[in-house]
Amino acid sequence: MARKQIVAVVGRPNVGKSTLFNALAGKRISIVEDTPGVTRDRIYQDVEWLGRVFTLIDTGGIEPDSKDVILAQMRQQAEIAIETADVIIFLCDLKQGVTDADAQVADMLRRSGKPVVLTVNKVDSYKRDSLDVYEFYNLGIGDPVPISAANQQGIGDMLEEVVKHFPQEKETSEEEDDDNIKVAIIGKPNVGKSSIINKLIGENRLIVSDVAGTTRDAIDTEITHNGQKYTFIDTAGIRRHNKIKEHLEQYMLVRTVSAVERADVCVVVINADEGVTEQDAKIAGIAHDNGKAVIIAVNKWDLIEKDNHSVNDFTKKVRQTLSFMPYAEILFISAQTGQRLIKLYDMIDAVYQNHSMRVATGVLNEILMQALVMQQPPSDKGRVLKVFYMTQVAVKPPTFVIFVNEKKLMHFSYTRYIENQVRAAFGFAGTPLKFIIRERK
Ligand code: GDP
Ligand code: GDP
Repeated sequence: MARKQIVAVVGRPNVGKSTLFNALAGKRISIVEDTPGVTRDRIYQDVEWLGRVFTLIDTGGIEPDSKDVILAQMRQQAEIAIETADVIIFLCDLKQGVTDADAQVADMLRRSGKPVVLTVNKVDSYKRDSLDVYEFYNLGIGDPVPISAANQQGIGDMLEEVVKHFPQEKETSEEEDDDNIKVAIIGKPNVGKSSIINKLIGENRLIVSDVAGTTRDAIDTEITHNGQKYTFIDTAGIRRHNKIKEHLEQYMLVRTVSAVERADVCVVVINADEGVTEQDAKIAGIAHDNGKAVIIAVNKWDLIEKDNHSVNDFTKKVRQTLSFMPYAEILFISAQTGQRLIKLYDMIDAVYQNHSMRVATGVLNEILMQALVMQQPPSDKGRVLKVFYMTQVAVKPPTFVIFVNEKKLMHFSYTRYIENQVRAAFGFAGTPLKFIIRERK
């Protein structure tokens, strides 16, 4: 599957960016959900058009930090868009015409070589306004697409232009895809993501492939180890422009989301030297929300002065900060010295297998019946929960349906208890499990 494309909207204040966003908002899908500590910023949303889903990011919410406010603001937006997006919608305003700031930003965008869809908003009546639209040809970034965001006109034509710049869906056979374990290496900047991949490459025969639809800074690396093929998805690359680094952090999360969506296994890299932080929790939360297998790789372990407690102490902190994913495996590594890096493969294999594991219904229900005997189901006002039956309905992640007499009697803590029994019986290390409660009369 090709990476989900990222589209950014750039434009002066008041050109109608928010209006455009809202016009597309019917298709809004929330990406981050119930994970504590995960950002609720809605700077991006998923949009579906002509059967293709892409992520739209709003670069408009940035506080300017210079006197020439509007131009400075637009420059920052443009830089973020150039860094993070695959296609840029440059939104102008028919009523204000072509301004100096527009011309300068158009220059920046043209030099970046990124595909740009020049869009002129507030063309409420094409009959009346069409002559004025011609003025925008002067920006030298292509044919202007007239829209009225407020009246929801022309938006389809604009999206069609955007989608034209997406890579063709490659016709890869499912089978070919299937024997590759897809691994996303995610984490804050500078935790060592690229170093890990480089070290793995150094020790293996490799094919570096430019997968269709990836930009220069998101290259997939294919590695064969012990006969197993792995595709490592690297989210590194956004760390050159220090002056806008702070702003970029939240946009980087968008990149992380699109890498995670393509992966089976996520390796969340943490810098041992810095300790585990809230930003780490946000990134790990993306893997959790997407139901992926997770390994927490505590990197730069060579920098730590160690004693008998170091591993335990660090593990405790990780478990505390990432308390929403107690199932995650933890590995202490050093990309620099190569320490334990080879173990990463075994761990990836193991969590991948657990993520795809199917348990036969018979065995599952034996465990369930034992669990019911060991700890009585809860009751409420004389009504007792009856748990009839359980079956696994999906893998990646393993998903179970539990049939009960009354859903509202199934307390969260009892589901958790059953989960723990299932884990104790079958392992499932490194993978989240999903439980769906259904009523059966
Ligand atoms: P932003 O600052 O770029 O996010 O711009 P807004 O979406 O807040 O819009 C600025 C103003 O332009 C608001 O008063 C909108 O109602 C108005 N506006 C947005 N789209 C259109 C349009 O298609 N036609 C007209 N006439 N006004 C619009
Ligand atoms: P990325 O931004 O997450 O891809 O991080 P990089 O791979 O670029 O690494 C950031 C910095 O940390 C570089 O200077 C690396 O040399 C250094 N680094 C990476 N892994 C290790 C490690 O295991 N130990 C030490 N001491 N330094 C490391």
